[in-house]
Amino acid sequence: MIFRQLFDPASCTYTYLLGDRDEALLIDPVFEQAPRDLALLDELGLKLLATLDTHVHADHVTGAWWLHERCGSRIALASVAGAMFSDLPLGHGDRIRFGRRYLEVRATPGHTNGCLTYVLDGQHMAFTGDSLLIRGCGRTDFQQGSPLQLFRSVHEQILTLPDECLLYPAHDYRGITVTSVGEERRFNPRLGGEADAHDFVGYMDNLNLPHPKLMAQAVPANLRSGKPEDARLPAGYAIELAGAAADSSKAQDSIAANVPLVIFIIFTLLMLQLHSFSRAMLVFLTGPLGVAGAAVALLVLHRPFGFVAQLGVIALFGMIIRNSVILIASSCCRAGRRYRTPCSSA
Ligand code: FE
Repeated sequence: MIFRQLFDPASCTYTYLLGDRDEALLIDPVFEQAPRDLALLDELGLKLLATLDTHVHADHVTGAWWLHERCGSRIALASVAGAMFSDLPLGHGDRIRFGRRYLEVRATPGHTNGCLTYVLDGQHMAFTGDSLLIRGCGRTDFQQGSPLQLFRSVHEQILTLPDECLLYPAHDYRGITVTSVGEERRFNPRLGGEADAHDFVGYMDNLNLPHPKLMAQAVPANLRSGKPEDARLPAGYAIELAGAAADSSKAQDSIAANVPLVIFIIFTLLMLQLHSFSRAMLVFLTGPLGVAGAAVALLVLHRPFGFVAQLGVIALFGMIIRNSVILIASSCCRAGRRYRTPCSSA
């Protein structure tokens, strides 16, 4: 099995890539890092079957929708989260297969009401989201959080796994990448040891933490599975799609700025075309020269104008060269009587 732990430094989020044979899953992809994840999948020759969010995050936007658009991966998270565009709603006991392996879905609400923990078959690894962090846990003061529910979830669904089962959280702010069930049972100050539900609830209810900086943008965006609203990214999330939107508006500006040039080119083309109608045979014969002229113009001009204007300039160059040849040939014809037949049709 292929396993990669990936990191987003801005939000300290871990994304996990699991692959077997040619199939892969991504747990908690981050929007800004989705192009990185896609490139890695390509390099490893893996087809992304689905993205699995552990919950509706409040501190970053999921890459689920972007990856779905790019490679057709399904969008999975808890059905109770009610996220738009999710085409793989999950519930406790579901299994998500990739290659010969599967992840078992365990509902672990408490941090949010839709938190899930994904346990790898064999119970050697589990991905706990924010339900259980390394020596800590996710906060419980928003998104239908409940400290009592979280205490029960962790004790009934995570700490009941084998001691040696490795636990991979959604975040770590100190640079620790992995823990184990045995470690957290012994060393987690909130949930391990002899900590009881009453103490835990009292502790969590008095954390008084400020809300995550990007919560107002991240939660609505994640309820759209990370799809930017009106094709615009939330504030602070400037990556590829934002660039594409900017490019599109730049292209529109460029076309608008070149409208007078385009009108001039069309007018000139019409005049030249009318002039050449009277020399139909020579036009036919010199057509290839026009194409060659257009090619030369393409090389010389490269990209000084917008796309539409560029096409017009290329056509204009081609037409000018073609008609120049026609005029020269006509002059020779009149002077030397060499082109009697074409001239007689003029
Ligand atoms: Fe969270």
